[in-house]
Amino acid sequence: MDREILRDLSYGVYVVTTKKDNKNVGCICNSIMQITSDKIAISVNHDNYTNSFITKSNKFAVSILSKNADLSIIGMFGYNSSKDIDKFKDIDYEIINDVPIIINSIGYIICDVTDKMETETHTIFLGKISDCKKNNDETPMTYAYYHNELKGKTPKNAPTYMEEEITKVQNKNTFVCTVCGYKYETDLDELPEDFKCPICGKGKEYFKKL
Ligand code: FE
Repeated sequence: MDREILRDLSYGVYVVTTKKDNKNVGCICNSIMQITSDKIAISVNHDNYTNSFITKSNKFAVSILSKNADLSIIGMFGYNSSKDIDKFKDIDYEIINDVPIIINSIGYIICDVTDKMETETHTIFLGKISDCKKNNDETPMTYAYYHNELKGKTPKNAPTYMEEEITKVQNKNTFVCTVCGYKYETDLDELPEDFKCPICGKGKEYFKKL
């Protein structure tokens, strides 16, 4: 079985959010699709704190990120847990229909959960669209763009996660972010003191040299 073909399915980079008992939570999802004219489906890992919140609140919002999205949004929502931190602390958001949406996005889709299906690892939530809005005409970020152009790595919880081999580029030093897997190639022997991961925002102490 050549799982490489699965990389040829198309995915986006979305922020899925919800709110329950005055707590805003969210995570990055790449597997979202429109099922009917007024319903979409999203796939959320059981280990994501957001999963249990959607189950309780029975609603969720999807904010669609553009290619020009601030990568700290992906870093914050993709590589942290809402269990530990308030992911919205430094993010511009707005509460609409009692769900937080990300302002710096192409637009949002808000849904009420109408059904769900369990797999071994993920819950597929089916949502009926209650509100949606397009903010601008920017190009949506695809997962391929994030992976190939921005060198972003797939978190273990994503449906599209695969073990990756890290190969060293000749004559360059490669530093790998131990949090998100971002690879930085440089002629330098050490990263600058103020170096920050462009994907997850962590400092140089989180990088290991290959
Ligand atoms: Fe990182």
